[in-house]
Amino acid sequence: SSLTKHYPVPKQGLFEKQHVLRAVDGISFHIAEGEIFGLVGESGCGKSTTGQLLVQLVKQTQGDILYRGRPIGGLSGSEMKSLRRDIQIVFQDPYSSLNPKKTIGWTLEEPLIIHRVGDKLTRRRIVSETLEQVGLDPDYASRYPHELSGGQKQRVGIAAALVLSPKFIVIDEAVSALDVSVQSQILNLLKELQQKRGLTYLFISHDLNVVEYISDRVGVMYLGKMVEIFEAGEAGAEPLHPYTRALFSSIPDVKKRKERTTLQGEVPSPIHPPSGCAFHPRCPLATNVCRNVVPELRRVGPGREVSCHLYEEANDKP
Ligand code: SF4
Ligand code: MG
Repeated sequence: SSLTKHYPVPKQGLFEKQHVLRAVDGISFHIAEGEIFGLVGESGCGKSTTGQLLVQLVKQTQGDILYRGRPIGGLSGSEMKSLRRDIQIVFQDPYSSLNPKKTIGWTLEEPLIIHRVGDKLTRRRIVSETLEQVGLDPDYASRYPHELSGGQKQRVGIAAALVLSPKFIVIDEAVSALDVSVQSQILNLLKELQQKRGLTYLFISHDLNVVEYISDRVGVMYLGKMVEIFEAGEAGAEPLHPYTRALFSSIPDVKKRKERTTLQGEVPSPIHPPSGCAFHPRCPLATNVCRNVVPELRRVGPGREVSCHLYEEANDKP
């Protein structure tokens, strides 16, 4: 079923009716094992909330999440515990996940202690190996967060996500705060780790360039909805949804970006989303039906799903 996360909005006045913020408003997608699935969209579109739902940092209002075919809502306590090992998250700001008063070694060993992994020696070995895998000398275990550069801190953030040998990692804006040269080092590290360890990623970023570079497939979100899913890279064809086209034309690369569409206006509030297609107030191609009918995300061709009235559902077999 489709996934929804609504947050109640504090009432402004006594007689105001309760409003909800539709952070994630009925989305449905799958990520294949061993795949990097990118999630892109402007801030507030629901991509971080989607990532937090997948690691269950927040609970959905409606819908369920299937992990290896099983709804995680129905897992027993011990199954949930092993799921918490399997699924990890890397945040934009590694500062927030690093305790300034604790050494890097302590931070990396803590999850192993919580999950009762090995004895002290085994845990120290795992910490050293993981540091090496993220390109840091094992000596870094005795350092404190303030002694590290931004890139080194993000390497520690990645190591913290890796120590429990997870299968699936949500990576939320993990390179956005870094300089461009450091960004590409971290992206390449993430790609290398994914291949070596056979990991699956949900890679979240507002930066379409970065998402397209690292991902196998890309989902585009707008106001809590998935508006398009396409295959990234050379294999991928042109973007179809008018919003994806606008995102593409805002990045300086000539390929795929023939007709320029500029986004006009602001993103509307997810508390009062527009009727019909939520993109209609900003869409240059909107018609009457767009104002009244919500378009469904439909498969319109190989590897391609779009939610827009301009496109017909493909009638060939997937
Ligand atoms: Fe634009 Fe209509 Fe398509 Fe929405 S459904 S993106 S308003 S053409
Ligand atoms: Mg975010």
